[in-house]
Amino acid sequence: MMISVEQAKAEAWDVIVAGTSFSAMYFVLGLPSDLRVLMIEKGGFEDHADQVFERRIPGREDFRLGDRHPDTKEWVAHTTFGGNSNCWTGNVPRFMPNDFQMKTLYGQGEDWPLSYDDLEPYYARVEAAMEVAGGGSEHLFPRSTPYPFPPHAPTRTDDLLRQHSDGWIPLPTARSNGGSRATCCATGLCHLCPIDAKYSILNDQDRFLRDGVAVVLNTEVRQVIVEGGKATGIIARSAGRDITFKAGHVALAANGVFNPAILLRSGIEHPALGRYLNEQYGAHRLVDAPGLGYFGGTSYTGLGFDLYDGPHRKDYAAALIEIINVPAQLRPEIGRWGERAFTKIIVEDLPLEHNRVYLDDDEPVLDWSGFSDYAIKGMKAATDALPDLFPDVEDYILLEDARSEAHIQGTHRMGNDPERFVTDGYQRMHSIPNIHVLGSGGFPTSVTANPTLTLAALALRAGEAMT
Ligand SMILES: Cc1cc2nc3c(=O)[nH]c(=O)nc-3n(C[C@H](O)[C@H](O)[C@H](O)COP(=O)(O)OP(=O)(O)OC[C@H]3O[C@@H](n4cnc5c(N)ncnc54)[C@H](O)[C@@H]3O)c2cc1C
Ligand code: SF4
Repeated sequence: MMISVEQAKAEAWDVIVAGTSFSAMYFVLGLPSDLRVLMIEKGGFEDHADQVFERRIPGREDFRLGDRHPDTKEWVAHTTFGGNSNCWTGNVPRFMPNDFQMKTLYGQGEDWPLSYDDLEPYYARVEAAMEVAGGGSEHLFPRSTPYPFPPHAPTRTDDLLRQHSDGWIPLPTARSNGGSRATCCATGLCHLCPIDAKYSILNDQDRFLRDGVAVVLNTEVRQVIVEGGKATGIIARSAGRDITFKAGHVALAANGVFNPAILLRSGIEHPALGRYLNEQYGAHRLVDAPGLGYFGGTSYTGLGFDLYDGPHRKDYAAALIEIINVPAQLRPEIGRWGERAFTKIIVEDLPLEHNRVYLDDDEPVLDWSGFSDYAIKGMKAATDALPDLFPDVEDYILLEDARSEAHIQGTHRMGNDPERFVTDGYQRMHSIPNIHVLGSGGFPTSVTANPTLTLAALALRAGEAMT
């Protein structure tokens, strides 16, 4: 239910949540159903049909960048109801069990304060809600239930690669292959899917907005009020006015830039708060070989894990290879235009303390000076190794680095040690346990696979743990 600021002010709330995207909604879904919840959204509400008509996702952020930040690097977020769920691509691999134990197994990064097995039931429930299409990946990520829907049709490239290695799997995706949404028809315009085949918060909002959950729009959470070591509410800005809302619990789900900005503005201090800003390093590569080709059932069809986990992670980053079924890259030879694999290599970064979000004039600034040597070495190793994964390669073309993976991570890391980590494994602040800080800002390591399935599963688990 959408309500006005005046209505919201007049009520007593058990929980206030900042944001209305994946981490906010899955947290609310997990909460006990007798709790009264106010969700505060800085942006407005725009229907999917209106977005398609306007050919525009509302609320694209233009972040302020620090002096050391290169112009070639971007960070992407949309401030609007549903956040980035309006424009995400919908690739939803799970993390691998070893991703949760990087320090123990490889001496790099950190261990997570929870294991793959702890998260597995929540992965399964979020996949069910998103009606994920996938399969054939049980040897990489053990599952308690089958994927809700079968994988999309493979490309010719996927077929060929899977004959050579079981490291190539159908890419698990929230682009429909059966279920309540229209079936994806591989147009490749996923940023703003014309037929709404891709899962979004907008097309699943009824699941979350039960009785007792209200949303107030166009209102920015600015600050958490902390009294006697406890959060007692928030200060929000609406139409130029600062307004106080009281609640017994506060959850920030505003992303890895705005969560730390709100906490820093509240006078909350922690050595890791705002630091370790990171995301993955991605670059497109073209491989030309006989028998390769497009013609798959969705825009991204395959994932390659042959360069992902293993002892090399002691020295350099895991790499994931995406097979892209958007024929934007064709060969010049007549009659052989499609005999090409359009791939993306994505490697994990090693979060660096000096890459951070800080406040200037009370607003967030992103100060990021580059990827770790670990990631750069991983990209080089994967670039060198990629052609060997394909049979009979005729040509191999390196395209430019991607400007962004659109995954903002690391600025409120979770871990067991209160001195080094901002929250525990339920994303509750160690220092103020009635504040949750949700989303991929909590990831203690970068991980190569896409973050959203994991951050939604973490939020659902965190909500359910509230008593
Ligand atoms: C183009 C693109 C493609 C992507 N593709 C994939 C993919 O294929 N797979 C994948 O796993 N991930 C993908 N991602 C990343 C994915 O979208 C994010 O991981 C995910 O949206 C994060 O969810 P979130 O709820 O934590 O934050 P967000 O989606 O960033 O939402 C933040 C919410 O908080 C609100 N907000 C912000 N500040 C305030 C404030 N001060 N007060 C109140 N509300 C506030 C915003 O309006 C929004 O509702 C993609 C992202 C982009 C941009
Ligand atoms: S490939 Fe086309 S139909 Fe499928 S999700 Fe993307 S835009 Fe929608």
